[in-house]
Formats: sequence, structure tokens, C-alpha cells
Amino acid sequence: MDLKSLYRSVIMDHYKNPKNKGLINDEGYLTVHLNNPTCGDDLIVQLLIKDDKIIDLKQQGKGCSICCASASVASELLKNKDTTEAIKLIRTFYDMLTGKEIKDKSILEDALAFEGVGQFPARIKCATLAWKAYEKGLNPLEGEQNNE
Ligand code: ZN
Repeated sequence: MDLKSLYRSVIMDHYKNPKNKGLINDEGYLTVHLNNPTCGDDLIVQLLIKDDKIIDLKQQGKGCSICCASASVASELLKNKDTTEAIKLIRTFYDMLTGKEIKDKSILEDALAFEGVGQFPARIKCATLAWKAYEKGLNPLEGEQNNE
């Protein structure tokens, strides 16, 4: 199996069997709702943060396979990370998509599957929507300013 089809199968697998899907009714969770009008993606994420650590994440939305798979991949990658580490991972994911040089790509794990999306500028927003939502939950004020 070549790398491209491996990546495609990672995305399809997360799309068909999304992780951490479904919202939870608990006021301890921070909820962020974002959408991507150019594609019609609409996503709600929830984060449970304790002592600067992400204990749990939830995601629920409708949209294209890239958006939904990315929300699933991000929820798995960011779980049990401390907030500084999570923000670093989110920034690294953006850097990968915009073709910036990254020292250690392996920290992105399954999220590496989205590297090829960077070749399709219109789809970058699909891939980053969930990450922007989680970022906003981690740092509400900064998320507001960095909404683009
Ligand atoms: Zn999309």
C-alpha cells in the first residue's frame, strides 16, 4: 500500500468510525460551535479541561469526510494532553497544511494523513475546522482573534 492510499484509508476509517462522537450534557465541558460556509461543514466540539490538561473531548457535526474525519483524529490526538502541548499540536497541524517546515511531524500521528489536503486550498478549511474549534476552547480569547 502506498502512502497516499494509506492516508486515504486513515481518513475514511475515522469518517466511518468517528472517535469521541456525540455531545455530553455536562456544564463542566466547554462547548464551541464553528461552521465552514464554503463547504457546509457544521461542527460542535466539547472539551473537559482540568488542571491545564484535556481530560475529555467530544465532537458532533455534519459535513464532508475531511471535516468529520479531522474532528475525530483531533479528538484522539488531543486527549490527555496538557493545554500547552495541545496548542503546539494544533499549530503544527496548521503548519503542515500550509506547507511550512516542521521539525518533528511524527507528533501529529494520524493527523499526518491530512498533509495532502494542503494541495487543495479550498479544503484546508474543512481540515482545520475542528482544530480551530478545539483551539478556541483551549484559549477562548485568542481563538476569537485567530478565527481566520
Ligand atoms: Zn468540508
